[in-house]
Amino acid sequence: MDADCFARIERAVLNDMSAEQVVRIETAAHEFRARHAVDVLLAGKAVALEESRVCPHCGTGEAVKNGRDRRGLQRFVCRGLNCGQSFTAITTTWLSGMRMPDKWLDFAQCLEDQRSLTWIHQHLGISRKTGFAWRKRFLGSVAGLPADTLGGIVELDEAYFVRSFKGHRGWKTGNPPENRPPRYRGSGAVKRGLSSEQVPVVTGLDNSGHIVQGVLTNRTDEAISAVLAAQIEVRSLICSDGHSSYPKIAEARTCEHVTIERPIHSQEDKARGLTKGTPGALGLGRVNSYHENLKTSINRVFRGVSTKLLPNYVALVKHLRSKLVPLVFIQTALA
Ligand SMILES: [Zn+2]
Repeated sequence: MDADCFARIERAVLNDMSAEQVVRIETAAHEFRARHAVDVLLAGKAVALEESRVCPHCGTGEAVKNGRDRRGLQRFVCRGLNCGQSFTAITTTWLSGMRMPDKWLDFAQCLEDQRSLTWIHQHLGISRKTGFAWRKRFLGSVAGLPADTLGGIVELDEAYFVRSFKGHRGWKTGNPPENRPPRYRGSGAVKRGLSSEQVPVVTGLDNSGHIVQGVLTNRTDEAISAVLAAQIEVRSLICSDGHSSYPKIAEARTCEHVTIERPIHSQEDKARGLTKGTPGALGLGRVNSYHENLKTSINRVFRGVSTKLLPNYVALVKHLRSKLVPLVFIQTALA
């Protein structure tokens, strides 16, 4: 539709149409939105850019419209001094350079359903390599979301994943392969107990369901505190297994700290079914349950994840808990 025709319709909606006619136009617009959700998102961002005229490269408000790109997206060019770069609604976002926008929503649904790359290739016609690259982008955007704030009763604990160099032996950077034996998926660590082979993931979870989590390089007090301390509201109640860093976090945030002892049940009690906890008592049940879910997803559903990409998949597991619609993945990547 040309600009004059559109301007006439816009004027008619504002001045000439009856209320019934406007409602019918509104219904048609809703139908269009449902059928072309991604296009509407991109168009919304383009309209916002048209109004703000802010260039994502230099940050000045000097951008003007400049035709369309191959995919039909509105292109802008910056008139700012020493800039002159052109951009669209997806430039500098996680979706920058991604093709086939008609498949983004179906792909996001596959992430929601935790489909494998082979399944995606067979059903959406996206190659495994492209699927892997897209997944990295969507998960990267989810991992970059701001952390929640924890309050009330807060449970803190850590889980461990065996270090993985999946898909990388050092060849790709032109260096000789690293001097380490391969570890096959599911074979576990060589050293017993906690060691450098184990990657800690620390989680804080409160009774409203908010979650703060982080993949650590080591299990020091400073590393744990850097992830959790700032996200806990003052005067909360912290429950933990008594690792030395948790009482320190509680002290720094003027919170009360309770060490939860692991219940020891005799064989006799277990046989009599007397191992259930006391309802309402403080414990680490919620965070333990979350870690169980996290380990199942990482180790079984995703068939092991490289340590380099672990933060992305940990963020995905948290994201999936909130049962959001697939369009949210695209909205997050476009932000
Ligand atoms: Zn600029």
